Amino acid sequence: MASAIDGMEGHYFAIGLPFIADMTAEGLVRGSYGVDTAQFAARYVPEMASIVTLRDTLFDVAREDAAASYAQARHDLAVDAAIGLTVLTIEIGVFVLLRRRVLRPLLANTRAVVKIAEGKLDTPLLPTTRKDEIGDMQNAIAALKKTSQAKQLLEVERENLIEQLKYASSTDFMTGLLNRREFAQRAEQQMALARRQDWSVSLILFDIDHFKAINDQYGHLSGDMTLLKIAGIARHEFRVTDNLARYGGEEFIALLVDSKQEAAVLLAERVRAAIASKPFVAVNGQPFCVTASFGLATAKAREIHDMDAFFQLADHALYQAKTGGRNQVSTGDTLVADSQLDRK
Ligand code: GH3
Ligand code: MG
Ligand code: MG
Repeated sequence: MASAIDGMEGHYFAIGLPFIADMTAEGLVRGSYGVDTAQFAARYVPEMASIVTLRDTLFDVAREDAAASYAQARHDLAVDAAIGLTVLTIEIGVFVLLRRRVLRPLLANTRAVVKIAEGKLDTPLLPTTRKDEIGDMQNAIAALKKTSQAKQLLEVERENLIEQLKYASSTDFMTGLLNRREFAQRAEQQMALARRQDWSVSLILFDIDHFKAINDQYGHLSGDMTLLKIAGIARHEFRVTDNLARYGGEEFIALLVDSKQEAAVLLAERVRAAIASKPFVAVNGQPFCVTASFGLATAKAREIHDMDAFFQLADHALYQAKTGGRNQVSTGDTLVADSQLDRK
């Protein structure tokens, strides 16, 4: 490049420019330049070639610089890309490892804990073979599941026991009917409903006739079997909502809500007839007959303020049925005519 600058100084500045200055001065003094266009071009243009040479030289230098910078930039870019790729590969590797060794087991264990908390204890757990923190966590979850299973079992046993207790405390063990206590409780609830609905209610009380004689003649066990059979017959006739119960010894009771007296009488009649028509067999194989007497009281639920007094009405009717000859249904003062029907 230095020779190109020297060339320009030696030709253009040293020869070309003074030539122009001389010509200008001569032109100003003489009024003409003393050379024609062809002569001017022949003298001046060769001196200008140094400018073109310098320009080309400058271009070449700039191009070489640019090429060098470009090569450097490409190199730098390749190095940066290689570093970036390496870092990315390491990061992906770490992430994959983290996912497999930590995140996935963490997620699975979290799900397992949620299932255990929801009481779904049949969900399989991850195998606990690892000796690190995740392994400790899985061991802890396995222990939690085991404890929860034991707790759930105890809970089921407790529920069963409560159910058994409830059943035992509300049921007569021999006949399986409701016991007196449960009857009283349910009767209260039924009465509240009947009062709200302004229904009539009927209380049916029935007692096995000469039961003592059955015991005496065929033995206590035959007596028990008689009670069981009569409970079965009655259960077949009454609705569950009638709350049929063993009231004591050989006495049974039922409360019919939303029932008119005629319907209650018909039902009592049906039970009475069913008992009277069924053959009974003693433990010694001897057949015998059993009858029962029925007392019935009916009233509007809203008019019953004292259940004991209402019970007394039914008991009084039962007494009437007994004194009236047994094996009959009584509504108090009047014996029900139909009771006589199957005894014709
Ligand atoms: P009635 O016609 O007047 O009712 O005479 P009854 O003999 O049925 O009445 P009573 O009250 O004289 O006798 C009832 C008998 O019922 C006396 C009792 O030993 C018997 N009994 C009460 N509970 C049971 C029981 O669970 N099993 C047995 N086998 N007998 C019972
Ligand atoms: Mg009796
Ligand atoms: Mg009795």
